Amino acid sequence: MLDRLLYKGVLPRYAFPTDVATFYVFDPANSRQGFPTFRFTPSQGLAVALSQYAPGKEVWIANKRYTSGALYSPIKGERSRAWHQKRLYYECRNCRYARTQPLAQGHRGEKLDCPACGAREAFGEARYWVRPPGFAHPVSWDEDTSPDDQPARSYATRAKLEAPAPPENAAWTMVTGRVRRHFMRETLLVTNSGPRQEGYTYCTTCGRIEPTAAHGGELSGPHRKPFPDDRDPGCPGGRVAKGICLGMDFITDILLLSLRLDYPVRLAPGFLPTEIALRTLAEALASAACEVLGLEPGEIQADFRAALTEGGQNGYEAEIYLYDTLPGGAGFSRLAGERAGEVVERALEILSRCDCDVSCYKCLRSFKNKFEHDRLDRHIGADLLRYLLHDTRPVVTQARADHACATLAEDLRRQGGASLTVETGATIDVPTIGPVTVPILVSGPGGHRRAVCITHPLTATTPSDAGLKALGELTPIPLDPVHEIKVRRSLPWVTRGVLTALGF
Ligand SMILES: [Zn+2]
Ligand SMILES: [Zn+2]
Ligand SMILES: [Zn+2]
Repeated sequence: MLDRLLYKGVLPRYAFPTDVATFYVFDPANSRQGFPTFRFTPSQGLAVALSQYAPGKEVWIANKRYTSGALYSPIKGERSRAWHQKRLYYECRNCRYARTQPLAQGHRGEKLDCPACGAREAFGEARYWVRPPGFAHPVSWDEDTSPDDQPARSYATRAKLEAPAPPENAAWTMVTGRVRRHFMRETLLVTNSGPRQEGYTYCTTCGRIEPTAAHGGELSGPHRKPFPDDRDPGCPGGRVAKGICLGMDFITDILLLSLRLDYPVRLAPGFLPTEIALRTLAEALASAACEVLGLEPGEIQADFRAALTEGGQNGYEAEIYLYDTLPGGAGFSRLAGERAGEVVERALEILSRCDCDVSCYKCLRSFKNKFEHDRLDRHIGADLLRYLLHDTRPVVTQARADHACATLAEDLRRQGGASLTVETGATIDVPTIGPVTVPILVSGPGGHRRAVCITHPLTATTPSDAGLKALGELTPIPLDPVHEIKVRRSLPWVTRGVLTALGF
């Protein structure tokens, strides 16, 4: 009953330690049979512990290095209960949307079409998903030993929203012509799928666990139990599950913002410009909400997803959700929703007031988002927000366009060699339009010509210049629109594309 009330968020969660995970370091000298004692028992909120205490991770306590190598709870039956309550976990390879399902409603290894972005058979493969009761340093390991080959690092996902948005026209409040808001109390999901997303190999008999990516197969055979057991320290092995995920879910307060876009502005799920624009905007909105409400940074966090609609799959509807990080919720996201107008204006200020190139610790970066620093670009975030607020079409700045053009032209000359002619700023007469300046005009062997122009990442396939658009439509010279981020991040790929099209 208490568990149920806590889970539903009826009682304030912070008064109870249910979402806390402990890392146990045994004290074998003082342990009696069946009654282990501990030298250290540090603990963390489970969402954080899923990264910091994950199997294979080093945990430093009192200047000594311990290694997480077991799931463990001192409460009898707790670990096997966690195993029996396992669910199936599905995550989309394309857009990262995720959901858990009861075992009866699917099967391990199953691949479905993604309910968010629509990518075929990208949702899965389904894996076992277990809520860890606690973690331990195996008692037979030395205190400063760690596995010889440190596996690739693994981190838990951000908190993911499974629930669909409410239906059209129901329960939505307009913030701007393109932004609607809806408040909800729903479940968020945090999951660690292990290094290289390969999950963990788990001995269900004794609790030993290690990253599947680093697994030498030793858990299948006899091995030492992770906890002190003088009479019988060995585990026969044999009952091993491979590729399991560790995770937790919690109900909290969520402010869902639905963003509507129209051609040529598009946020196609799974594309880099989409990830950059939405990640940046989500971070700016979360910071803005904390500033407006006078909260500590991090008390509200945010993430995004494609809307679970046809518009979402086509890139014309995206969702950003702000949520209270305190399990059970503290009402902050509801307040942020009531002051949504102020929050979006403050977000625009955060994105515009800095003087850095793309992002820095003064505006968007923090220790918390350190794995996403390459996804934060305040210019693209601000361009998206101005479009959502004032319908201003995103246009790549002259300086960025010029720089991208020069970089690409130089690379084309270098890779194309003597048989390629590269002109910048050439003029072409376009019927009914007149002379149009072409940023890059390339001619290959046989006299084939192509025009290349730099576009804004949010309108990647459409040049903002009407003359260039007409050139592509009304002359025999094909136009390759290349968005500015692509030139910055994958220049060799862009160059190869242009050369291949010319017959190189
Ligand atoms: Zn997807
Ligand atoms: Zn075992
Ligand atoms: Zn900055």
